[in-house]
Amino acid sequence: MAADSAQTAPVGAAGPAGARAGIKTRRTALGTHVFDRRTGMNLFIDQAGTDESVALAPRQVSVALTNACDLRCSYCYAPKTPGRHDTATVVAWAKELDAHGCFGVGFGGGEPTLVTGFPEMCQLVAAQTDLAVTFTSHGHHLTASVCTRLVGAVHFIRISMDGVGQTYERLRGRPFGALLDRLADVGDVAPFGINVVVNERTVHELDQVADVATQAGARELLLLPQQPTARWHGIDQATLSEMRAWLNRYRGPLAVTIGATGIQGLPVTAPVPGEQPLDAYAHITADGVLKRSSYQAGGSPIGEDGVMAALSVLRTTGATP
Ligand code: SF4
Repeated sequence: MAADSAQTAPVGAAGPAGARAGIKTRRTALGTHVFDRRTGMNLFIDQAGTDESVALAPRQVSVALTNACDLRCSYCYAPKTPGRHDTATVVAWAKELDAHGCFGVGFGGGEPTLVTGFPEMCQLVAAQTDLAVTFTSHGHHLTASVCTRLVGAVHFIRISMDGVGQTYERLRGRPFGALLDRLADVGDVAPFGINVVVNERTVHELDQVADVATQAGARELLLLPQQPTARWHGIDQATLSEMRAWLNRYRGPLAVTIGATGIQGLPVTAPVPGEQPLDAYAHITADGVLKRSSYQAGGSPIGEDGVMAALSVLRTTGATP
């Protein structure tokens, strides 16, 4: 899950992937933005605005490659309907987004590593575009063999870890030790971060999560306040307050980011001041609908005329996330 996590991510925080140069410049009416997918370097010059903002792709696009997952987390918001993209479609979308100024794609789901040929899909996108390639996974299929095929194909990996030890095992239904084993291989592929769904059970373990993540070599911790679904409740106010208190006192080495739905009341920095939401981010569902976020109802189906045509429609609908 966490297809929206890239919405707040320092895309491609570093990494060796891809033979292409990977440095991109994005010019809009707000300024000039330079991004290097190999290092994660972001440079925004707000004095150099042009009129080239028309028809720009979002800076970051998340793609749910599938709705399928072999875990059964109670708070999962991935749709339970069938849906899966093939490699040719994803590569075509990636090339189109790349040509229109997008900086990165983040693959999610469901569980993206369940998609047949997932490593090869990442390889093709990295090789044929200048996009930063990232993905979010529960991590349990990232064996040494899969990781070997991902080397050079991704720039940043996000692994979900809701709590530690028994808390993780109750929530995710998998051995915590097995996850730690997988993290050792993940660290050999690309820089990685840890995603945490923050709820009343995990909020008390944020210190331990941060410690485990640091020891495993993670660079970033992404806090995702639990969202309500048709079957499950969202984060409560007391837990939200506790999470904010933890954020204020955390002094560890990890870069801490937070999902866009949890930032109210926090002193966060806008990466591009004045940027419109659809210039920053969009989401493609596993059944091929472009949305402002994975939570948005409706959206714009992507047809044979591609993602940018769907984006044009989405821009005129006025729908809110
Ligand atoms: S790992 Fe859990 S939250 Fe993520 S897609 Fe699977 S069931 Fe949903």
